[in-house]
Parts: sequence; structure tokens; C-alpha cells
Amino acid sequence: MEAGRVYNFNPGPATLPLEVLKEAQAEFLNFNNSGMSILEISHRAPQYAAVHEKAKQDIKELMGLGDDYEVLFCQGGASQQFAMIPLNFATKEHPGSYVLSGSFAEKAYKEAEHLGVGEIVASSKETGYHHVPQQSELKIDRNAAYVHVCYNNTIYGTEYHYIPETNGVPLFADMSSDMLSRPIDFHKFDFIYAGVQKNLGPAGVVLVVAKKSLLENSPESLPTMFRYSTFYKKDSLYNTPPAFCIYMVGKVAAWIKSQGGLEEMARRNERKAKVVYDAIDSSNGFYRGHADKDSRSFMNVTFRLPSEELEKKFIAEALTHQLSGVKGHRSVGGMRASIYNAMPYEGAVALADFMEKFRKENA
Ligand code: PLP
Repeated sequence: MEAGRVYNFNPGPATLPLEVLKEAQAEFLNFNNSGMSILEISHRAPQYAAVHEKAKQDIKELMGLGDDYEVLFCQGGASQQFAMIPLNFATKEHPGSYVLSGSFAEKAYKEAEHLGVGEIVASSKETGYHHVPQQSELKIDRNAAYVHVCYNNTIYGTEYHYIPETNGVPLFADMSSDMLSRPIDFHKFDFIYAGVQKNLGPAGVVLVVAKKSLLENSPESLPTMFRYSTFYKKDSLYNTPPAFCIYMVGKVAAWIKSQGGLEEMARRNERKAKVVYDAIDSSNGFYRGHADKDSRSFMNVTFRLPSEELEKKFIAEALTHQLSGVKGHRSVGGMRASIYNAMPYEGAVALADFMEKFRKENA
């Protein structure tokens, strides 16, 4: 581990590849011989245009997508997408169908409900969001404008391990917390979005990767910045984009490519997750995982300890071992270890070793 740093298990903003941080640091004062920082340069400057274009190309290449898809850089967080999606695509006649698998899926649904254009087609809420609804639980409405899923549930630590079959209804996914963490057949999705501050960069930009056909014509009744067509037709440069965030996302995408792409990310992420889940499973019930085994997330590992006192002690002692950000979300309690692409294997091992030590001392 780099001197002075910790293993950062925060869910987002989250750990970034050290190489990327160092690269950004090295060129911080003079970006690409412009004599300016990337923070200071015009978004119309050719040096910035190259960054913008390369980030888009690398993301599409990593996802294996062609010319029928477009990459947009939006703002307002993934939370604003929760509202923009129904505003742009759903109507009373053709509502948005929502699969509830956790808090963010619910928040997305609530925005559509608020507009009177949302419906729930499956939910695992009644059973405490321990699993993501399986294909057999989905009641597909063929009349719907889209089916919306949250692919990785950051708070509950559950993730889809299948791609929903929607009988021709466009499939929309919030991939905020597992975007570019593993190869997926992205062609099966019509619209994907992700707040980048977990796996891809600093907070401030939302990545949208969608079929061009969905972006061409947005309702004219919407304000300019709420229409996807504005972002599409102006290449996400209608107004000043969050240039620094896009630059960082571009660097992270290039880093993923240099490491071996999504296959290599998946190999590393599965290896890390196994180490932490093994520490839970071999603890004789001292650690209790929140997620059902078939829905376990490779990105966010959630677990409880025998008492809240022990949980507080665990968090405090973890910090003394340079393990930061392991506290779970208040709605689930307990612990959450976020092990995104940039978390090194050694970080997962250090956490698992600490879990074992803590269990022996406190069981
Ligand atoms: N969706 C998921 C899966 C998330 O994990 C989060 C944030 O944690 C959000 C949406 C909300 O993102 P933002 O804070 O960018 O609005």
C-alpha cells in the first residue's frame, strides 16, 4: 500500500486506481502542453475535444458496442436520471415498468410514480431485499415504455447474475455501482446509466450509454436540459460539461483497457469477492451476509455481526488496520465492503485477515 493511504471500502465516492491518480497529479498544472490545468481549460479547446472523444470511444469499445449506441455525459447524478427517464420515455398509456430490488430502484420508481407513469412489475421488498427478483418473478407488461432494473444494489449488496428477458420491451438499467466491472452482453440493454463516482471516476458526471434511436427525439414539451436529444445532438456539449470528471472517467476507461479489459476486471473482482465471502461463510455464523448466495454482489459485500456493540468496535478497529469505510448503510446496518475495480486484491485479503482476527478475539 502507498504510504499515507488506506484501503478505501467506501461505496462512493470510492477508491480510484492509484496509477490514474498519479497520472492526473503529474499533468495537473500543465495539461497536454496547454499551459493550463484541465480544470482551467475551455471545453471548446482542441485538447479537451480529444479527451471527450477518446473517453466515449474507449467506453464503447470496452462494452463492445457499435455505431447504434451513443455515450452521453449528463449531470445531476444518477438521481436526476430517475426523473429524466420517465419524463422522456413514459406516458400514462405506455408506463415505465419497475423492478424493485433495493432503495435506488425504489427511488427511480418513485419519480415515475410522481409523474403518474410508473408501475411495479416485481419486487423483493417484502422479503427484505435479500435477493434480486428472478426472471420467473417478472410480470412483463408488453405495453410498457421500458423495464427498469437496478443491476447492482449498492446498499443491500445484491447484483443481477442474469439479463432480464423482457419480450421486446426496451431494457433500462441503473449500473451506477457495477458499470464496467465485468463483461455483459450490453446489446441486450437499450439504455444504461451510471453515476461514475463508484467504479469510474469522481462525483459530478453521469454516464449514459443508450441506443441512438431512443435519443433522437425527446418530447419538445420538456425544458432543453431535460431532453436526451439535447445531449445527443450537441455531443453532451450544449452547456459546459464537467470536464475534469470526464477527463478522469477517460483515464479510468483507458486504465481498464490497459489492464486487460472487462474480462480481467471480472477475474479480479470475483477473486476479491471470494476472499471476503469466504471469511463470512467460514465464520460459524459470527458474520451473517445480507444477500442470498445467488444474488451476492461482486462489488458491495454486506454483513452483520452478532451485536451493534461489536459492529461499532469492528469499524473502529478496522481503521487502525488502514481499512476505511466499512460501515454499512443505516437502512441495513452492519458492514459493507465496497470492492470496486480499483480495490487491489491485497485490500480484500487485508480485510478478510482482519475479519478472522476480530472473530477469534470477540466470538
Ligand atoms: N443508483 C445506485 C445504484 C447508487 O448506488 C446510487 C448512489 O449511491 C445512486 C443511484 C444515486 O446516485 P447519485 O448520488 O449520483 O444521484
